[in-house]
Amino acid sequence: MIERYLNGLEIKKDELTAIERDKLLSEGKEADRIMCCLDTGETLAPMIGCTLNEYYHSSEKMCELEEYIYHNFHSDGAGVSCTLRGMAEAMGAKVKYADYNIAQLEEPALPLKEAHNAKLVDVDKDGRLPIILKGVRLVKEKLGGKVPVSATVTGPFTIAAMAVGTEQLLIGTVKMPDKVRALMDIIVENNNRYIDRLLDIGVGIGFADPVSSTSLISVEQYKKFSLPYFQKNVDHIKKNGGGCGLHICGTSRKLWDYIKETGIGAFSLDNVEDVEEAKYILGGRMCIQGNVPPVEVMRFGTPYDVLRSAKECIRKGYDSPKGYVLTSGCQMPIKTPKENMQALMDAARIFGRYPIDEELLR
Ligand SMILES: [Zn+2]
Repeated sequence: MIERYLNGLEIKKDELTAIERDKLLSEGKEADRIMCCLDTGETLAPMIGCTLNEYYHSSEKMCELEEYIYHNFHSDGAGVSCTLRGMAEAMGAKVKYADYNIAQLEEPALPLKEAHNAKLVDVDKDGRLPIILKGVRLVKEKLGGKVPVSATVTGPFTIAAMAVGTEQLLIGTVKMPDKVRALMDIIVENNNRYIDRLLDIGVGIGFADPVSSTSLISVEQYKKFSLPYFQKNVDHIKKNGGGCGLHICGTSRKLWDYIKETGIGAFSLDNVEDVEEAKYILGGRMCIQGNVPPVEVMRFGTPYDVLRSAKECIRKGYDSPKGYVLTSGCQMPIKTPKENMQALMDAARIFGRYPIDEELLR
């Protein structure tokens, strides 16, 4: 079957828009195929002939990329991310932009020992936040009728790492826990202010929280310094009638028992973790999303590698009780080939077509 891809294999066309598909699946009904989202963002800006630097500073380019992705691939999601350093920059951190590399932290916003002086942001004025919010608004206007639109918010613990520096923060959890807590309180408020705008625009919310990975912190650190503050953002969203999901880069398995209780609607796992395990532990409470390797497969693999990897993900995840979305295990890197993005979408059309053919997935 996979061998015949790009060589005579007939692929059935989508019969529904992403909005229609999403609605049917969320009601527990069958649609034409499973959901499949391309995890895009600044790294794919060169696809529309634009540098990353330009993309970071242009609401119009953010929207143009999402329109390009939708029209060329029919991905089931569109959105704009606050980016990992966006909130920290609004709080005063210096960020260095490059044309063909993701933005880097140049200088933290403040030393951790001055945490009580951390800045409460004005989301309509500070840093790139107004540009990003306008980007979200444009995407919602242009594509909102056809595809679910969401905005990515950075997890509070990751914002703290970008605001004071990751090393300072991690040392601080041991040496200055009160300062870390004071910083986290301010970040929760900053995120809530940003979230209020997103709720007004009417988009879904996804958190990206790489620094909460157990590749970087212990479960104890997570429980004390990350989870309670993440929970405050989640509660704020739910209290206001919104829904949200979470992505953690790297290992997260030991956190799942806690994440399960947060009330989030979706968890997107890195490719170092297992979709089947996530289905058993988290799948009864939330939609599972993942996890084709972004680097080894999406960037450096062939379309056939993408199909093989996606097929395995679908086999493990398609029957997850609260739904499954095929996507990569993290944002796709710069120079991910279009053919591989097309192959990921086609994998959903070949192996994820309803009724699911289990023979085909073996
Ligand atoms: Zn990731």
